[in-house]
Amino acid sequence: MNIPFSPPFIDQSVIDQVLETLQNKWITTGPKVKALEEEILKLTDSKAVVCVNSWTSGAILMLKWFGVKEGDEVIIPAYTYCATALSVLHCGAKPVMVDINEEFCIDPEKVRQAITSKTKAIIAVDIAGWPCNYNELNAIIKEKDIADLFEPNSDKQDLLGRIMLISDAAHSIGATYNGNAAAKHSDVAIFSFHAVKNITTAEGGCICLNLPTTFDNDTEYKFLKMYTLNGQNKDALAKSKGGGWRYDILFQGLKINMPDICAAIGLAQIKKYGNELLPQRKEIAQKYCKGFEQMDWFIAPPLYDQGRETCYHLFPLRVKGITEGQRDQIIDDLAQLGVAVNVHFIPMPMLTYFKNLGYKIEDFPIAYEQYACEISLPIYPQLTAVEIQFIIDSVIAMVGIQLYKQNNLIEKATVRKTRVIIPNQIYGYGH
Ligand SMILES: *Cc1c(COP(=O)(O)O)cnc(C)c1O
Repeated sequence: MNIPFSPPFIDQSVIDQVLETLQNKWITTGPKVKALEEEILKLTDSKAVVCVNSWTSGAILMLKWFGVKEGDEVIIPAYTYCATALSVLHCGAKPVMVDINEEFCIDPEKVRQAITSKTKAIIAVDIAGWPCNYNELNAIIKEKDIADLFEPNSDKQDLLGRIMLISDAAHSIGATYNGNAAAKHSDVAIFSFHAVKNITTAEGGCICLNLPTTFDNDTEYKFLKMYTLNGQNKDALAKSKGGGWRYDILFQGLKINMPDICAAIGLAQIKKYGNELLPQRKEIAQKYCKGFEQMDWFIAPPLYDQGRETCYHLFPLRVKGITEGQRDQIIDDLAQLGVAVNVHFIPMPMLTYFKNLGYKIEDFPIAYEQYACEISLPIYPQLTAVEIQFIIDSVIAMVGIQLYKQNNLIEKATVRKTRVIIPNQIYGYGH
C-alpha cells in the first residue's frame, strides 16, 4: 500500500475550470475570484467575503486593518500552526499564548485570565475543523469589566469598542455552530485554501466578515480589496478596460490578492463540497470511529455535539496512555506499511523560534498532553474502502505492539517477530 496523507482533490471539473480560465486569457484577480467569493458568501451566510493569497496574509491584513501594532497583545492558543502567532508578530504585536482544553480548542477561562488593557484581539483556532466555544468567547469580550479595559487606538477599534474575535478557520470551512456556519460566530473568520485543506486554491485564503452593524460591509469590502492590491483604487481588470488606465494609490496596502487561475480550482471544488466532498469526509470519520470503538486506548476526536459539527478536515486520533516516543514509533511503523500520517500540532513553544522568544512548553500542559498521543489519519474523498480498512488494521496492529511492549509482556526480540507477523496479515489486502 502507498496511502498519501492529504493529496488535493483534482477531478475533471477542476481541470475544466482551470482550462477555462487559461482560455479566457484572464488569469489574475477577476471573475473567478468574484465567483468564489459569492460561493463562500452562500456557504457561510457572511456579510462580506474577501479572497486573499493565503490564510497568513489574510490574518496580517485583518490585524493591520484593526490597527494592531507594537505594544498590543493578541491572545492565541499554544496549540496551532505557527502562522497564527507569526501573523501577530508581523504586525509588531505580542502573541500571548494560552493553553487548550481536551477538545484541542483554546480554553475560554484561560483567555479571560490573559486579557489586559493591551489586548486587541483573540484568535481562536478551530483545530481539525472543530469549532471553538464561540458562545463563551463572545460573552467574555462583551463582559462589562473586560469591555471597560479595552483602550481603542484606531478608527476601527473605536467602531468595534471591544476586543476583536478572530477565528482561525484554516481547517473549518463547512463546520457548523448553533445550527449555522461556524464562521458567522466571530467578527472575522479566515479560511485557508492551502493545498492540504478541505477546499484548495493551491495557495490561498479567504476572510469572512461578520462585524456588528456599526460597520458598513460594502465599505469594508471595497477597502479590504484595495488593501490586498497595494492600496490601489482600481484593480487590474478595471484598468485593462479601454480608457481605464488612470489609477491612484490611497494608502500603504499589501499585495496579497488571489489570482483567478488559483480561484478556479477552489471554485470547482466548492460546487461539490456540500453534497459530495464533505459527506465523503464524514463517512470516513464514521468508519474510523467504528473501526476503533472496541479499542480501550481509542480517544475519538470531537466530531459533533448538540450545537456543532466539525467539517472533518483532520481525524486527530489520540492513543490513551502512550508517550511521545511511542507515538513517534507508531508513525514510523505505519510509514513502513505505506500509511502516511501526521501530527497536528507540535505546540509552538516546542519550536526553536518560539523557545528563543521565551515561551515554555511546561506552561501548556494540556497542549503537550494532546500533542504527545495524537496521530492524524488520512481523511479525504479519494480514499477507497480497502484503504480505509487497511489504515484501521495497521493502526490497531502498530498501537498494539507499542502497548504490548509497554506492558513488558514480551522481550524486544519477540516484538520484532510480532512486527513481521502482523504486517503480513495486513499485507494480504494489497499484495
Ligand atoms: C494551514 C494553516 C494556517 C496557514 O494557512 P496558509 O494558507 O498556509 O497561510 C493557519 N492556521 C492553521 C491552523 C493552519 O492549519
